[in-house]
Amino acid sequence: MRLPLSSTLRMGAYVAKNALFPRPEWQRDPSPRNSPFPILPEGRQRAAGSQPHPMLRKRFPLVLMLEPLHACNLTCTGCGRIREYEDTITTKLELEQCLAAIDECRAPVVSICGGEPLMYKPIGRLVEGAIRRKRHIYLCTNGMFIEARLHEFRPHKQFFFNVHLDGLRETHDLAVERDGVFDEAIAGIRAAKAAGHMVCTNTTVYRETDMREVEALFEYLRQFDVDGHMLSPAYGYSAVQSREIFLTREDIQEKFKDVDSLFRRFRMNTTPIYAEFLKGARDMPCTAWGNPTYNTRGWKGPCYLITDAHWDSFEELMSETPWDRYGRGNDDRCEHCMVHCGYEPSAALGVNSRLADSLRMLRWALT
Ligand code: SF4
Repeated sequence: MRLPLSSTLRMGAYVAKNALFPRPEWQRDPSPRNSPFPILPEGRQRAAGSQPHPMLRKRFPLVLMLEPLHACNLTCTGCGRIREYEDTITTKLELEQCLAAIDECRAPVVSICGGEPLMYKPIGRLVEGAIRRKRHIYLCTNGMFIEARLHEFRPHKQFFFNVHLDGLRETHDLAVERDGVFDEAIAGIRAAKAAGHMVCTNTTVYRETDMREVEALFEYLRQFDVDGHMLSPAYGYSAVQSREIFLTREDIQEKFKDVDSLFRRFRMNTTPIYAEFLKGARDMPCTAWGNPTYNTRGWKGPCYLITDAHWDSFEELMSETPWDRYGRGNDDRCEHCMVHCGYEPSAALGVNSRLADSLRMLRWALT
């Protein structure tokens, strides 16, 4: 995620501190490689003597995915939350629980998602509480309630509205299964920008996505002076995997093969290193511990997509999750996953980095 200069510096100091002084209890592996219960895909062996990258033994959170509720006014085709959490869809976190999770986790970036967070009554106070804690906040929304609730937020350099748009009008309304949503989201973007807020967009790329339309969408959004765009491939995890819209790793690499032209033309919030990973120009291991999720059932492990446990505390999530047993080659549910919540931390932390990467990341962060 691209951040303002002051937040970039704070983030740099935070990463350096955790890399130099990693919390020992977060680095232990509760399922050693000689576990009698391996979950490797059938027939696959780990490379003998292979050593993990040193940053994989310096685990700490970068981005907290905070889900105060799972209720939503839409039923989007690719959404796993309204399916996985169907039984608790009316449950909400208390404001105090949300703020306690922010304090407990200490990640410098908080992505408030859901459900639709603008349906959460104390959302204005939640954002204000996170700003007071010096967090950088992305409020991930379908945009339909921005106009109605805009007065509850004050513009701040640490706060972004992050509006989900999967294409131009016809495509987006099809993806969210309701006519008129695109126009309401655009009205929300327009109102937020007019009120002095920072706004970025978030686009999920599905099997049917035409990347030329994504380019046309970003071109269309220029007129509103949008502050950046995020991209991530859809992934068919357990709650939604029976659907035909998700991509294999090969599909993703094909979709993103010309992603460089988007970086040349538009302000991308996705890191250039993650973009290289998406187009297949480099490999990286998953670092899902960098992107923990907290919701009405607790700390969701191991990641935003797969649920093997809900832990009562962040401490338990970090120290009890067998992190080494996840990721490509370790768990067949991860085989085609390239989603940002598993791999953006790897890019940001320089896992499998090359000589020129730091310079590229610095240039990207500061321009
Ligand atoms: S690769 Fe990582 S982020 Fe993706 S499903 Fe597996 S554990 Fe989750």
